[in-house]
Amino acid sequence: MTTLPVTPEQVWTALAAVPDPEIPVVSVTDMGMVRDVTVDGGRVSVTFTPTFSGCPALHVIRDSIGEAVRALGVQDVEVRSTLTPPWTTDWIQPDARERLRQYGIAPPAPAGDSALITLDIEPTRCPRCDSFNVRMTGSFGPTLCKRLYVCDACREPFEGFKSV
Ligand SMILES: [Zn+2]
Repeated sequence: MTTLPVTPEQVWTALAAVPDPEIPVVSVTDMGMVRDVTVDGGRVSVTFTPTFSGCPALHVIRDSIGEAVRALGVQDVEVRSTLTPPWTTDWIQPDARERLRQYGIAPPAPAGDSALITLDIEPTRCPRCDSFNVRMTGSFGPTLCKRLYVCDACREPFEGFKSV
């Protein structure tokens, strides 16, 4: 009973290699999706919160997490999703924001501690030239997770996250 087959740390490390199905340059832990890992004897439970409830990738994330844990030699894996509390862009790890920017996706601005700042005036920068001179061209990108913008400085279109 004293020897566990895996430690929670090993599970977290394995999950850090599970890519976000929408954005392969970041992992599910980079995005802050993994909320809880428990190891109880030979059983591993992982609780995650999808980045956006409208994302179609829920089952992909669940399968990927289950596979990553099973790859550690764990037979008994439970993967649960929870929407409470809802995912927030604040959970994105700081170094992942920079990778998102390099990938060409405008990372959401940190929400800060003022609830009075509305999302509409949150500055969005062009990931290519850093200009704030951008405008939204549509409410939604290819998935419900993103918005489409165009930069008036370099005329490049880009995707930005909806901040939630
Ligand atoms: Zn630009």
